[in-house]
Amino acid sequence: MTLSLDLTANPTRDMLRARAAMSAKGSLIGLSRAELGEALVSAGVPERQAKMRVQQLWHWLYVRGVSDFSEMLNISKDLRTALERDFTIARPEIVEEQISNDGTRKWLFRFPPRGAGRPVEIETVYIPEEGRGTLCISSQVGCTLTCSFCHTGTQKLVRNLTAEEILTQLMTARDRLGDFPERGTPDGAIVPAEGRKITNIVMMGMGEPLYNFEEVKKALLIASDGDGLSLSKRRITLSTSGVVPEIFRTGDEIGVMLAISLHATNDDLRDLLVPINKKYPLNELIAACRAYPGLSNAKRITFEYVMLKDVNDSIEDAKALIKLLRGIPAKINLIPFNPWPGTNYQCSDWETIEKFADYINNAGYASPIRTPRGRDILAACGQLKSESERMKKVDRLALEAMMIAGHGEA
Ligand code: SAH
Ligand code: SF4
Repeated sequence: MTLSLDLTANPTRDMLRARAAMSAKGSLIGLSRAELGEALVSAGVPERQAKMRVQQLWHWLYVRGVSDFSEMLNISKDLRTALERDFTIARPEIVEEQISNDGTRKWLFRFPPRGAGRPVEIETVYIPEEGRGTLCISSQVGCTLTCSFCHTGTQKLVRNLTAEEILTQLMTARDRLGDFPERGTPDGAIVPAEGRKITNIVMMGMGEPLYNFEEVKKALLIASDGDGLSLSKRRITLSTSGVVPEIFRTGDEIGVMLAISLHATNDDLRDLLVPINKKYPLNELIAACRAYPGLSNAKRITFEYVMLKDVNDSIEDAKALIKLLRGIPAKINLIPFNPWPGTNYQCSDWETIEKFADYINNAGYASPIRTPRGRDILAACGQLKSESERMKKVDRLALEAMMIAGHGEA
């Protein structure tokens, strides 16, 4: 059974709407400690108190997960009122929440306009598995890149998401799963039996995270902050199509796990599939991977490889893949292609995928084949009401399929 909570017509919706970040006030979420200190001083906190207040706020925001200043009990009423007047800590509006019978959850979040823009909607997907729960997060609305097998690649970039918007995808998912202290998990939710409900995050939703480097960096440093959301960097994976200069910066400045959308083992084919390859060809990409800091058997790069029938799925391709990755601590993620209306590609036959996977396994690589999750909620998204700023149904189907299929092996 698929449970779909239509939040367009019930009191919960009104409540969420009221709390949604629709105001022009700046958010305190996504600010560094120094920026948070400046914000507090601007709201009237004496300089000498700022550091202590920052610590208190950080704890309320990121450990306790409060989304209302009134819950910050050790902060004086006057200061809470001043903060409320100048700032917001609200979550995005939840337009829809869908729950698949395999426990996969999908939220459609709406973020307010920035400047003269329109509100934007993005999806975030939660995938529970034995012993872990992975959240797939978006970094941009649309994408400037044009990978030929990816439906997002046919859409224009609408805008980059802010650090706040990247983080509130995680924080709102934690709200809804009861993954903050003293919050109950919804009855019947499929989540890991023990510990945290969201154990891993993958930047594998919409957009190219390394084309929104500064905001992604801010968000991931806060997500991995040990005094706050406390996700280990080992459990955060950033997927990129191969923006080489920012791969170096990711290693130096963020230090999370890396996934590379490889998909081809020679420049001619990769130029066609992942056109950023023309700018940063395979030899540069692979060199950046080899130089990624801290690689070991326990800390490997994930190489994503979409299985496209008669394009990149022969045993020759598998051999070339092994040769290309020689010496790099690597995992290989084979992703069955998710077709979308109008595409010229087809998914490889199952037998071909298995042969390919066997070859790679025999060469010593674990190569899980991503089995699609939450298929039933993909079907159900045809039930969404259409709105002018909402993506077309076909676009949404393709994006959802991609997010769920490509959610990684972190
Ligand atoms: N833009 C980033 C992250 C998002 S894409 C990147 O390209 O890495 C997440 C994964 O899904 C990527 O490996 C992407 O290549 C893959 N993908 C995109 N469209 C797909 C499709 N139709 N079928 C299967 N995988 C797809
Ligand atoms: Fe953008 Fe990634 Fe899709 Fe390429 S695969 S178009 S980089 S979202």
